[in-house]
Amino acid sequence: MAGLTCARALSSRGERVTLLDKGRAVGGRMSTRRMDDGATFDHGAQYFTARSPELACVVEELAARGVVAPFVKERAPNGEARWAGTPTMRAVPQALSLGLEIRLGARVTKLERDGRTWQVELEGGERLPASRVVVAIPAPQARDLLVASDLPVPERLLAVEVAPCWALMAEVEGSAEPPWTVRSAAPFSWLCRQNDGVPRQRWVGHADPGFSARHLERSQDEVATQLVPPLLEIVGAKRVVTAVAHRWRFARTTKPAGSPAIDVLERRLVLAGDYCLGDRVEDAFTSGLAAAELLAPS
Ligand SMILES: Cc1cc2nc3c(=O)[nH]c(=O)nc-3n(C[C@H](O)[C@H](O)[C@H](O)COP(=O)(O)OP(=O)(O)OC[C@H]3O[C@@H](n4cnc5c(N)ncnc54)[C@H](O)[C@@H]3O)c2cc1C
Repeated sequence: MAGLTCARALSSRGERVTLLDKGRAVGGRMSTRRMDDGATFDHGAQYFTARSPELACVVEELAARGVVAPFVKERAPNGEARWAGTPTMRAVPQALSLGLEIRLGARVTKLERDGRTWQVELEGGERLPASRVVVAIPAPQARDLLVASDLPVPERLLAVEVAPCWALMAEVEGSAEPPWTVRSAAPFSWLCRQNDGVPRQRWVGHADPGFSARHLERSQDEVATQLVPPLLEIVGAKRVVTAVAHRWRFARTTKPAGSPAIDVLERRLVLAGDYCLGDRVEDAFTSGLAAAELLAPS
């Protein structure tokens, strides 16, 4: 979200931008997993707020195009509007990426200064020239990239702390009247039903921070095996049909940087991401806009 937002802002002011993402699709943690049988699970961000006028404006446009809709599975305690992608969360980054030049499967391994410009090195050795660079990746990965590039690591970045989250994606059978969401039912902090199917329901469960940290290095199969029995019990289902676990190693910021974007080098290398401000989609959006503002003009 931070990278896409920044790229859109830069493009709209006439800059030529290339987005590099190591993933197979854009969106990062605003992600949807499609199984072999076509079943989908939003296993990252569940919904998002649009408190700022800037994001509210983008959401209004996306809602008019049917890309987002109000998240109605649970009411916010304060009645605030919450939004989700339709039919899945991935629709949002996909819509935001339209018209941008994007290279997927492109993992950046090093940034090298070349006079006043940069050489961006990809896994595999390819090098791309750039006049300025925005690094919009989770804080620990940004730290690793700066260290590998022999570049200064700002104090603000060093101070950031993030926590992991194991997500379970499961299809189950046998629940008569399942709820849409369940909060704080150990070992889960959140469970959300993905479909209204009877007799089969698809669930996403986010393990709580304690479980996720304790089992961080376990295999996906081990974690799925551990999480299925409590899931069945909590949602009142009899049998699991399929279950897959996904490790979000850098899921949620627990200590943000406290600055909307971070200048590393003369505004020609700038950092962005949710961690600059918090742990939410809207923080990533705000940070992406701030990075575009901060970046030196061409
Ligand atoms: C389980 C879970 C539940 C969540 N629930 C919510 C919620 O309900 N509401 C909410 O508002 N927020 C939620 N969040 C947080 C939200 O998803 C994030 O705040 C937001 O998506 C972060 O966006 P970002 O652009 O900062 O980072 P990311 O989405 O992580 O994007 C970073 C991108 O960088 C790419 N990348 C990383 N390293 C490299 C590299 N070396 N080279 C090239 N590309 C690279 C990645 O592939 C990724 O696409 C949740 C997150 C998780 C994990």
